[in-house]
Amino acid sequence: MLEKRTCDLAIIGGGLAGGLIALALRRQRPELELLLIESGETFGGNHIWSYFSTDVAPEHRWLTAPLVTHGWSGHEVRFPGHNRTLPDIYYSIESDRFDQVIREQLPERMRVTGVEVASATPTAIALKGHGRIRAGGVIDCRGPADTQALDCGWQKFVGQLVELEQPHGLTHPIIMDATVEQKDGYRFVYCLPFTPTSMFVEDTYYSDKPDLDRRRIAQRIGEYVDAQGWTISRTLREETGVLPVVHGGNLADYWKAGGERTAKAGARAALFHPMTSYSLPDAVRTAMAIAELDDFSGDALHHFSRKLAGEHWRDGGFYRLLGKMLFLGAQPKERYRLFERFYRLSPELITRFYAGQSTAADKIRILSGKPPIPISRALRAILGK
Ligand SMILES: Cc1cc2nc3c(=O)[nH]c(=O)nc-3n(C[C@H](O)[C@H](O)[C@H](O)COP(=O)(O)OP(=O)(O)OC[C@H]3O[C@@H](n4cnc5c(N)ncnc54)[C@H](O)[C@@H]3O)c2cc1C
Repeated sequence: MLEKRTCDLAIIGGGLAGGLIALALRRQRPELELLLIESGETFGGNHIWSYFSTDVAPEHRWLTAPLVTHGWSGHEVRFPGHNRTLPDIYYSIESDRFDQVIREQLPERMRVTGVEVASATPTAIALKGHGRIRAGGVIDCRGPADTQALDCGWQKFVGQLVELEQPHGLTHPIIMDATVEQKDGYRFVYCLPFTPTSMFVEDTYYSDKPDLDRRRIAQRIGEYVDAQGWTISRTLREETGVLPVVHGGNLADYWKAGGERTAKAGARAALFHPMTSYSLPDAVRTAMAIAELDDFSGDALHHFSRKLAGEHWRDGGFYRLLGKMLFLGAQPKERYRLFERFYRLSPELITRFYAGQSTAADKIRILSGKPPIPISRALRAILGK
């Protein structure tokens, strides 16, 4: 019975971060008795996670390889001023596959779905209506905590996987088509050609407000598809997201909001790219680092994860500065200019940016030259005025 269970390590939340930690530990530390607890009916929820091959270090790629459902050599961006095809390999992971791999790689006793955690301490979990579980250590991966302690803009989107009546003719993804009408901040459409006649189309906004008009955005996806000369025969699935684009705030308070003494990973530990809100590169690095630990006690895990979050926050300072320029320095309609200019820079710099590994020279290069927004506003944003 679940309420009588004890284990070496309990992972709360079988989403991206929790699932990857479980998979990494299962392979690297098979001696550990794990328990992955997910409140939904499947692991991973309803997601398509995409990333560049260079986001994951070669020695970590065994972790993501079984999860990948689509991959392309190269991708494209489109702006009013220029189009560009970049060479990086792009991958997508669909949550159905994520769920399948977790079920294959974790024995049944080590995973549960449909069980909601009410609260956690470093060594115990209270289940909603099912009693308590005792563990040597607990890692909380329940997704974002309360974001009140963070200063954010929002990246919000609706994505639809659509079946088309005819082949679309695209051979690689368009990761930003910003030639669309600019509304509600920086708007772009993202297209992943899954098969010759199916396409994942997402309409995205870098907006000041988190509210999402799902119906209206879904309608705009239809308008975009029509404008490409494609015809939808059926919509196969839909996902929505409202992700924080963090440009300031206080990590210590955010950490406390997610449970002060409990170890955390994923969005709950603010382990995501401040500008893109994407967390897959950090989730892989975190899972691999946890698999190398010697001590899985609640206190040791808390110490480790808090330190990791602190370092990540410190290293993200430059990206938060860019976020300030985007949300506080640029008028919503001119935000696209920052991305348009960024995408004229070298492919290697762009790659390092997405992996959250920009060098000092990259940072100087990104900020040098004539800014695409008035310099006085850029400076006011940077100085926080
Ligand atoms: C639709 C969408 C698309 C995204 N696409 C990308 C992408 O392409 N690339 C990328 O890098 N990032 C992407 N992101 C951003 C980010 O990577 C994801 O949000 C990622 O899933 C965050 O990982 P996580 O493990 O922290 O949270 P989640 O993946 O959300 O996992 C949290 C899990 O905890 C479970 N849970 C919550 N409360 C409880 C509870 N009380 N008890 C038990 N379980 C609980 C949830 O059901 C969920 O499964 C996307 C986000 C969204 C919303």
